[in-house]
Amino acid sequence: MPLAVVKIGGALPGHVITGPNCMPEKPMSRLLPARARRTFLAPTAKPAFATYALVVATLVATAGAGADTTDVHYDVPAAAATLPALQQRSEHVVIISIDGLRPDAIDKFGAKTLQRLMREGTFTLKAQTILPSKTLPSHTSMLTGVDADQHGITWNTDEVDSHGHVDVPTVFGLAKAQGFHTAAFFSKTKFHHLEAPNTIDYVRSPKGGMRDPMWLAPYTVSLVDDYLKKSARSPNLMFVHIGEPDFAGHLYGWMSGMYRKAVVEADAAVAELLHDATTRFGAGNFTVIVTADHGGHGRNHGSSDPRDTTIPWITWGKGVQAGATLPATVKTMDTAATALWLLGIHAPAEWVGHPVASAFTSGISVAAVRH
Ligand SMILES: [Zn+2]
Repeated sequence: MPLAVVKIGGALPGHVITGPNCMPEKPMSRLLPARARRTFLAPTAKPAFATYALVVATLVATAGAGADTTDVHYDVPAAAATLPALQQRSEHVVIISIDGLRPDAIDKFGAKTLQRLMREGTFTLKAQTILPSKTLPSHTSMLTGVDADQHGITWNTDEVDSHGHVDVPTVFGLAKAQGFHTAAFFSKTKFHHLEAPNTIDYVRSPKGGMRDPMWLAPYTVSLVDDYLKKSARSPNLMFVHIGEPDFAGHLYGWMSGMYRKAVVEADAAVAELLHDATTRFGAGNFTVIVTADHGGHGRNHGSSDPRDTTIPWITWGKGVQAGATLPATVKTMDTAATALWLLGIHAPAEWVGHPVASAFTSGISVAAVRH
């Protein structure tokens, strides 16, 4: 189903901006959090970007409401007891998804942090997302290890009230069921579908509604920063969603000047997340996967066009073999499988995602070194 065309005419404070499902109708009357205001409305910002910043920034809520999940039963498949135990390769896995990040934007726009992760870790710029190449279906595959025909979430809005939470196991639920601590920071309301009860120990996302519209990266990152500083327990699996490139792509076009600014902002957010993770986990003690849900072209995405379906897949940190050659085809479902594998958990047999094992140092060689 085609998305609606973005209408930005009259996008002034107090007006309403209308967009595709990624950009729900919101009043333009919210103030920007102080940290985001500094980042987006700095005096040095070029006029054109300031316009983008104003349009996007006024969509942001001043605060979000967090909630720990409740103890509702979550049906996780029984562990594959007959399989040999997996080696745990990392105690802390951080997945960062940059919404709408086209892989060719990284070098074209000089995303320095991502380039560093690529240089020091390993990557493919030819990974593939699912169809439809839209935010909610794609992220659901990224975080459940199965395609849309298995998880069933083909819509791209928050429809929890009518459809409920995703009813296949998520990477969070599977990790938590094995005693790991899980956290997630979602900057769009549609992710509520992935917040199945008793799967994520700490989760933040916009509540939705007129008082709590959209979150920009500086706000989301500030929540992560606060959590990592104060949480009694370090997360073993943490997911962070950054929305900027998608917002800018819909408003101004993929690969446009404003999209470039958004990619640079997202890259800066990754740098802050790395800093926060290093402070909490210790240098070299965590593994990062940076990827995207989809690309885009023109002012939209969702099709089978390679510009929509091709995504970056970068991994860096503990256990990663720098410069390793990755398979020709990495799928977004492999992100969930790789995260579980790093934690030493067998993925359910139903998963079509597989660990990208070649990105990491061989467990056998590590064992051999010990002897
Ligand atoms: Zn979008």
